[in-house]
Amino acid sequence: MRIGQQTYVDPIWTCHGCGKSLKIPGLDVSRLPLRCRCGSHQVSDDRGPGFFRRGLNFARAATMHALRGAPHASQETIDARLAICQACDFYNGQTCTHKDCGCNAGRTRRFLNKLAWADQQCPIGKWRPATRSVDILLPLHGTPNDAWWYIRGECVVQLLRENGFSAEVIPLAGTKSADVRQMLATYNPRLFINRAFAIGVDVIREVARDFPQVRFLTVNHSSQSDLLRNTRRMTDQVGHIHAAQEFDNCYYGVVDERNFIGEILKSPKCVWVPNCVPPMPDPAPPASREKPVVSLICRYETIKNIPNQLLALAYAGGVKARLVMKNAKRTAIDELAQTLGLDYEWAEWSSWPRHIYGIRDEVDVGLQCSFSESFNYVALEHLLLGKPVIGSPAIRYLPDAWQVNPDDPRAIAECLRRMIESIDADSQQAAATGAETAKQQNRSFITVFSALLS
Ligand code: SF4
Repeated sequence: MRIGQQTYVDPIWTCHGCGKSLKIPGLDVSRLPLRCRCGSHQVSDDRGPGFFRRGLNFARAATMHALRGAPHASQETIDARLAICQACDFYNGQTCTHKDCGCNAGRTRRFLNKLAWADQQCPIGKWRPATRSVDILLPLHGTPNDAWWYIRGECVVQLLRENGFSAEVIPLAGTKSADVRQMLATYNPRLFINRAFAIGVDVIREVARDFPQVRFLTVNHSSQSDLLRNTRRMTDQVGHIHAAQEFDNCYYGVVDERNFIGEILKSPKCVWVPNCVPPMPDPAPPASREKPVVSLICRYETIKNIPNQLLALAYAGGVKARLVMKNAKRTAIDELAQTLGLDYEWAEWSSWPRHIYGIRDEVDVGLQCSFSESFNYVALEHLLLGKPVIGSPAIRYLPDAWQVNPDDPRAIAECLRRMIESIDADSQQAAATGAETAKQQNRSFITVFSALLS
């Protein structure tokens, strides 16, 4: 068919608004400003694969579906899949037009609906089989190679599984509504963990409304003071607290066991979510070295109190400092350390095993005299490896004698000198305190998650 100078050869167009199709032999509507009677301008050639190809695709999918026991998807899964399809260029309002598909894709639970077959998946991987169903889903930024987050995440999953829950830790592919819907459609979780405000409150509100059977727990891992590190976090916190009050299936969690916000608001929806502790190598006895090595491992940030701790090391004298700092401005640290005459070395902020074995093999005492903490994993890792730690009252699980005023370098130095004199006994106390703290944390972690899933 010719219209003006153009030759049109494709015979079907479909309206993206109402989904109706119409045969117009020889017409390629993708080049015409067509408008459907429903008012939509979105009309295109959407025939999908040809008759034989479509039949073959269907026969293959139906055979596999039957062999897998013909599992049905839940209505929530169908809705979540449909939302993804509706945002996809291959969807014409009724069917998937991808050449490897051509199946009906709608909202109903009827037999001839690809979305209603739980074992099916999108040909280009936008959604996956929904035959799995987990109690807890934890998406994390990064990949399995980003060992810091991932090992702590894996430890969460491991602990949950050991206690009879099914749980998955997966990479967080994105934070938009469609990304979350896809994760929900794939894993059918009972509890979805939004770690460290990764997903914004607007998206959480939207999915909480559309997936009432799923509970959404947003966890703040920072102390209140540390929220200021990121300009968005204070606002995020308030948004998620409000969401927890408004939606039955939303919760706001903090890793600080004092749970000030839950207490002030008297809200059972603002909960303590204990950090759990991964297994560690056995504690190592104190090594004999020329000088005791004192670690200072932290992010390069105000609340970590780095300058005061460098002054304390200079006051104490007779020790070697091992500095491990994330995003450190090393020149500034070098200038102060050299001015103070410190004996020190830099070590890299490294992967999980090197971090752990670095503490076990290269350190005698840890310094963690920070101004504010929600929990502090690094001090606990030292303890579990048999290394005593001088901290501040912000690290509440440390023995009282090891908690000093972080704003008093002389007091930190005195505590350090005493600790070095009694290093054997203090190393044993460190291992015992670490083991008890880890046991309590992990036990509380399971108690809290059992309650969240009840
Ligand atoms: S099944 Fe996949 S390719 Fe087909 S319309 Fe849906 S999202 Fe697009």
